[in-house]
Amino acid sequence: MKILIINAGSSSLKYQLLDMTNEKLIAKGNCEKIGLSSPVISYKHDGKEEIFEGAKTHEEAIKKVLNILVDKKIGVIKSFDEIGAIGHRVVMGGWLFKESCLIDEEVTRKVEKLSDLAPLHNPANAMGIRACEKVMPNTPQVVIFDTAFHTTMPEKAYMYAIKYEDYEKFHVRRYGAHGTSHRFVTQELAKVLGKDVNKVKAITCHLGNGSSVSAIENGKSVDTSMGLTPLQGVVMGTRSGDLDPTVVQFLCSHKKQSVDEVLNYLNKECGLLGVSGVSSDHREVTEAAEKGNKRAKLALDLLAYSVKKYVGMYLAVLNGADAIVFTGGIGENSAEAREQILENMENLGIIIDKEKNANFKRGQIELISTKESKVKVYIIPTNEELMMARDTLNIVKNLKKSK
Ligand code: AMP
Repeated sequence: MKILIINAGSSSLKYQLLDMTNEKLIAKGNCEKIGLSSPVISYKHDGKEEIFEGAKTHEEAIKKVLNILVDKKIGVIKSFDEIGAIGHRVVMGGWLFKESCLIDEEVTRKVEKLSDLAPLHNPANAMGIRACEKVMPNTPQVVIFDTAFHTTMPEKAYMYAIKYEDYEKFHVRRYGAHGTSHRFVTQELAKVLGKDVNKVKAITCHLGNGSSVSAIENGKSVDTSMGLTPLQGVVMGTRSGDLDPTVVQFLCSHKKQSVDEVLNYLNKECGLLGVSGVSSDHREVTEAAEKGNKRAKLALDLLAYSVKKYVGMYLAVLNGADAIVFTGGIGENSAEAREQILENMENLGIIIDKEKNANFKRGQIELISTKESKVKVYIIPTNEELMMARDTLNIVKNLKKSK
């Protein structure tokens, strides 16, 4: 079966078409600047990339993508019927969704209702769902939530110590994010360890523009660094990560800005970018630090130190771990970041093999700890779209059986 994976943002719509008979990617691309000036659609297949005129609405974007996919000259499928199902990424499933599920009107309404908790993402995700339903009304659609994997966290991990009544009334709690990635690398880790996934105990570090660290026990998330929103946790590309909430009030009063303005600043102007003054991109900050830029070096130190602290916390939570996994753009590619995060942790049973770490092959699973290291350290490339396509296939398969 071929499955179309959709990740809709407010002005973008990323897509991937996968063939699930061999789990191979057939084509992918992005509809950018939807509804803005000069919108474009990129289309990558067979090692080539083409660019087309973009769309004014999400519905038009989906239509254009489908027409490209079936185009006689450049298309990769003969007709829309070859697409067996569509899988949609939704950022916030809140307390309502514990796993991926088939979409119906009630599910879409709940996704919209949760917009309060993810105002930048859920409305756009729902727009993508509604657009696909209009254009492909007979194709089953599945929703995959970034938060679902973390719904196994115990109360003591997801609660903030605020007044219990307010938690109950407003659902203010930790939800986490990157769940699809943490779940994917946990399953891959189980395979390399030769263990049942339900017995895996690990710390997974998804480090990219946005980053989160998770504690995994018996294959399930028992804690994660992101909170009510993706602002909490480790230092990120443009996000500050953890801070004392009073900092918000302090900045509001000193910068004469509203809470919304300060939150926007903490989300978009801080982290690597804010500290270094160079860039939010880890590579560029690393290059600047290598040339002697002290603020760039400080930004990298802050990032690595914040991840190290979460690794330490989760080693305590789990009473040790089988493995630590690095994934995401930084986790998979930056040997410097991995070394800096795990240096001087020998007494906790973590010894990184510096040579293996530096000479890793990109895009592959690599063991980068020494034989003596009690905790194994792996690089595991993530593949959120494949995880989403696997979920979609499983749900649609069951649907066919029950018919
Ligand atoms: P992601 O959000 O997972 O796409 O990750 C983006 C981050 O990964 C950016 O900060 C990039 O600088 C970083 N990144 C990607 N490739 C490399 C690389 N080769 N070395 C260091 N960082 C990288």
